[in-house]
Amino acid sequence: MSQSTVPFLPFVKPEIDEETIQGVADVLRSGWITTGPQNQKFEAALSEFCGGRPVRTFNSGTATLEIGLRIAGVGEGDEVITTPASWVATSNVVYEVGATPVFVDIDPATRNIDLDLLEKAITPRTKAIIPVYLSGLPVDMDRLYEIARAHKLRVIEDAAQAFGSTWKGERIGKLGDIVSFSFHANKNLTSIEGGALVLNNEEEAVLAQKYRLQGITRTGFDGMDCDLLGGKYNLTDVAARVGLGQMPHLERFIAQRKKLARAYFAGFEGGAAARLGVGLPLADFENSNWHMFLITLPLEKLSIDRAGFMGQLKERGIGSGVHYPAIHLFSLYRAKGFKEGMFPHAERYGASTVTLPLFTLMNESDVERVCRAVNEICEQYGK
Ligand SMILES: *Cc1c(COP(=O)(O)O)cnc(C)c1O
Repeated sequence: MSQSTVPFLPFVKPEIDEETIQGVADVLRSGWITTGPQNQKFEAALSEFCGGRPVRTFNSGTATLEIGLRIAGVGEGDEVITTPASWVATSNVVYEVGATPVFVDIDPATRNIDLDLLEKAITPRTKAIIPVYLSGLPVDMDRLYEIARAHKLRVIEDAAQAFGSTWKGERIGKLGDIVSFSFHANKNLTSIEGGALVLNNEEEAVLAQKYRLQGITRTGFDGMDCDLLGGKYNLTDVAARVGLGQMPHLERFIAQRKKLARAYFAGFEGGAAARLGVGLPLADFENSNWHMFLITLPLEKLSIDRAGFMGQLKERGIGSGVHYPAIHLFSLYRAKGFKEGMFPHAERYGASTVTLPLFTLMNESDVERVCRAVNEICEQYGK
C-alpha cells in the first residue's frame, strides 16, 4: 500500500453510537434542551457507578475541581498540594478560589505525584491535596488517604482521566473524599464537554447544586433565595444524553484500550526505540483505564527535537500530542516565582513526553503501524 492510501490516524477520536445520535435528536425535539430529565438520569447512572454516592454533573472537569475545592472549604490563605505534571486546570483552580498551589515532584515510574515528597510538603497552612491520576493510573490510594487522615487534609481527586479506573478492584469514585471526573471529548467517557463531582453526603450535594447555579434554592412554585455566590456551570441535557449513551459501552471501551496498550508494549519490545531508551508507561493492567499511552523520548540520543519527532510521525500519517508540559514553567506560574529546576522529574517528563494514538476505534494493526513508525524514526535519527 502506498503512503497516501493509508488513512491519517489521529491520536484520539470519540466513539458515539447511532442510538446516542438518535437520542440527542430526540432531546433536541423534546422542547427541554438544557439541564433537565437527561441530567437526572445521567446523575443517577453515575451515582450507581460510584456505589450510590451522591453525584452532581457540571459543564466541565475544571468547574468540578474548582467547586470541589469550594465545597471542601478551601480559600484565601490555604495551601493545596498537587503535581506539576497535569493539565493546567488542576492548579489554575487553586488560584481561582484564592488559595496557593504547592507543587510536589512526580515519581518518574508512575508519572504521578510522589507521595513521600507530598507528605514532606505539608505545612500548617495545607488544607487539601489534589492528586492526579495521569493517563488513568491511580496513585497508591491507601497511602494517599493514610496521609490525608493523619494530617486532617481534604482530598479533591482529579480523576478527570480515571473514569473506570480501579484501586484493588474498587472503582475510582466509589472510595475516597471528593472525586472530580471530566467528560471532555478526549476522555474515556464523553459528554462532549462536561464533568461530575462525587460527594460525601447530601449536604455537599446541595452545596454543589448551589455553586453550579448562581447559589439559588427554589421552594414550592414561586419561592427563590440566593444565599451563596455561585456561578453558571450546569450541564445541558444534550450533553447528558451523550454521556448516558456512553455508559453501557464503558467496560468494552476500557477492555479495548487495555488490548491496544498491550499491543504497544509488544510492539516496542526489542526495537530501535527500546535500544535508544524510549520510556514507556508503567504496565499496570490492574488499575489503569489506559486513558492515554504516553512515551518519553531520549532527546539527548536523538538528532531531532520533540517537534521534529512529532512531525516525522505526521509525515507517516500518525497524529500525536503532548500531555503535559510542566505547569510551573508556564509564564503565569513563573510570574508567581516558580522556575526551572524545582521539579526535575516533572520537567524532564514534560519536555520529552509524546502521546501516541489510543482510542477505542483503533485496532492492533494501527498500534503496530505506530510502533513501526516510532522504531523507524529512532533508527533514522538515533545518535
Ligand atoms: C481534562 C482534564 C481536566 C479538565 O477537564 P475539562 O473537562 O477539560 O475542564 C482537569 N484535569 C485533568 C488531569 C484533565 O485531564
